[in-house]
Amino acid sequence: MEDCVFCKIINRQLPSKIVYEDEKVMAFYDINPVTPVHVIIIPKLHIANVNELTEDNSYVMADIHLAAQKIADKLGIAKEGYRLINNCGEDAGQTVFHLHYHLLGGRRLGAKII
Ligand code: 5GP
Ligand code: ZN
Repeated sequence: MEDCVFCKIINRQLPSKIVYEDEKVMAFYDINPVTPVHVIIIPKLHIANVNELTEDNSYVMADIHLAAQKIADKLGIAKEGYRLINNCGEDAGQTVFHLHYHLLGGRRLGAKII
């Protein structure tokens, strides 16, 4: 996707601080962190958001979660805990339309929305 910021990060057209990468997933530090650990986890396949998941591409959800597990371990927050957040669509505040999960941790997180 030509105009997708996260596709550009995958293709190294934009710089990022990569935390984890394999054949199907990439993770990098958020440019505007809201917690001491704030990592964005994305599939290398361009999928706009949860609304575009299908039987054929939904394997990325498992890949993202397995990557989250490895990243939390690598960054030393697996035991203390962390939160995975996905924003889908405008009402949820999604600003980059390439499926992504925020991995947040490194401190006691605030009130839960749900
Ligand atoms: P959303 O609001 O769509 O759930 O999350 C998008 C996230 O991507 C935001 O937290 C924003 O700070 C981050 N972001 C946007 N552009 C870039 C970028 O070019 N590099 C990095 N590392 N993060 C970005
Ligand atoms: Zn993309």
